[in-house]
Amino acid sequence: MKKSKTVYADLHTHSTASDGMLTPEQLVEKACSIGLGVIGITDHDSIDGVKAGVAAGDRLGVRVVPGIELSCGWEGRDSSVHVLGLFVNPESSALAELLDAQRKSRYTRAHRILDLLGQQGFDMAELAQSFADSPDKVLGRPHLARYLESRGYVKDFQEAFDKYLLRGRPAYVPKDHVEPETGIEIIHAAGGIAVLAHPGLIPDWDRVWSKIQNMPWDGIETYYSEHSNSDVRRFRAVVESHNWISTGGSDYHGDYGKHIDRLGQAGLSQEQFGELLEKCAARGVSFF
Ligand SMILES: [Zn+2]
Ligand SMILES: [Zn+2]
Repeated sequence: MKKSKTVYADLHTHSTASDGMLTPEQLVEKACSIGLGVIGITDHDSIDGVKAGVAAGDRLGVRVVPGIELSCGWEGRDSSVHVLGLFVNPESSALAELLDAQRKSRYTRAHRILDLLGQQGFDMAELAQSFADSPDKVLGRPHLARYLESRGYVKDFQEAFDKYLLRGRPAYVPKDHVEPETGIEIIHAAGGIAVLAHPGLIPDWDRVWSKIQNMPWDGIETYYSEHSNSDVRRFRAVVESHNWISTGGSDYHGDYGKHIDRLGQAGLSQEQFGELLEKCAARGVSFF
């Protein structure tokens, strides 16, 4: 296990409520088994895993931070700006409204993509059925790519995107966008802090940054499993100059591909987590 000894709080993980492979309970059990004290459950555009995660955390003595990762963006931009909400109230009506609108638009989009892949001659029936059986589940492009791979229609996950799912490819359907500013507002309305997720992964950083830097962020995910040391230095400086908060997490999705053993590989030390709680309290944000 490559887990750094100093990581106490991994504040960015995904469960089966979005595109993770472990149920919220399994995720918390795994966090407990590798010695994490705190885990943030931050599913893509879903809060559904939080309750079960918190209950499992209470049972196992792991503190579970209720979170969410909102996919935000704007017209004509493909890769999203991910807004991480931490310490959000899972019962928030503002959040529920947004998620409901997103769910409807995602449902329509997923069906459209399934149709387009069907038109490519692929048998999508099994995936369509599992989707119909649990309509609240987020069916994203990673699910579709994994399905195409499992059926042998493509040689791997990446080929599914390159050949079919990306913009300009036959099964591409544009997303409705939530502007980052709206995402931040809704996370604030839900009582949480709004953090820019994995800025090091944003390819056109200068352009994106000039657009988002004046938004009411609370912080940046400075510590991230795919950030280099120089990324960490760069984003720590940004956080300091804005008087923001640094968060950290692995973005664990389950043990596959580049995510193997990733849980707990990035995050905050116990001391850093304590500081984060203090800064949150100063902003009127507390644990739900
Ligand atoms: Zn993300
Ligand atoms: Zn994520």
